Amino acid sequence: MFSIVPIPAFSDNYIWCIVDDATRTAAVVDPGQAEPVLQFLKARQLELDAILITHHHPDHVGGVKELDAAFDPDIYGPADSPFKGSKVALSEGDTVNWHGLRFQVLTVPGHTLDHIAYHTAQTDIDEAPALFCGDTLFACGCGRLFEGKPAQMRHSLAKLRALPANTRVYCAHEYTLANLRFSRDLLPEDDALEAFEIACKQKRENQVPTLPTTLEEEIALNPFMRWDDPAVAAAVDKRRIEVDPALRGEDRIFAQVRKAKDSF
Ligand SMILES: [Zn+2]
Repeated sequence: MFSIVPIPAFSDNYIWCIVDDATRTAAVVDPGQAEPVLQFLKARQLELDAILITHHHPDHVGGVKELDAAFDPDIYGPADSPFKGSKVALSEGDTVNWHGLRFQVLTVPGHTLDHIAYHTAQTDIDEAPALFCGDTLFACGCGRLFEGKPAQMRHSLAKLRALPANTRVYCAHEYTLANLRFSRDLLPEDDALEAFEIACKQKRENQVPTLPTTLEEEIALNPFMRWDDPAVAAAVDKRRIEVDPALRGEDRIFAQVRKAKDSF
């Protein structure tokens, strides 16, 4: 069995640390800073032997060099990336095997063009499948489209939506309450969203992370995952949000939600 711990970094990043208790080793996902990771490993007397990178942004890779110098871990990251510090370049369909825990690699361009996600169908982490999705999917949100196009991002999110519903979603940022303010404004009559917001506010008041959520929750609640939900279509239609006229159907609805959030 493995345990998983969020290591807070910067103002709202989580560096997810997967701990193999049997061997006292750890893997971290997207270490944007080395210092909090080094402190955590020292306190728990763990050796770092793997780093998983989702995309090239500095708040996800900034600590890699220092951790590499300290531990010489395996470093997995996307192929064709502006980040050149990976030792193993990954593409769609590749597998990462860490201590018997197998991760499928999915390419999920949109937030950046190099973005990948790691999914394990095994239930060795907190007894559920796990998804490390960086800045692609957030609780009730999704990453801004810095490099990709709306249709591309929707296609990436559709890949994640097709994973087992009980998958736990380990996002890289604690953006949940801000995302919920937008989601509730867009869908004020959605009772399930209201209940989720109350639960998340309670967690933050107690300094507890709102993450991970589950894919089941995101599919039901997240307006960026509900491009085929008539309630979301009606909400964006009412606002007459202008997007690229070439966009049609579900891509158009997704693009409208994303644009509404960009100016919220
Ligand atoms: Zn990013």
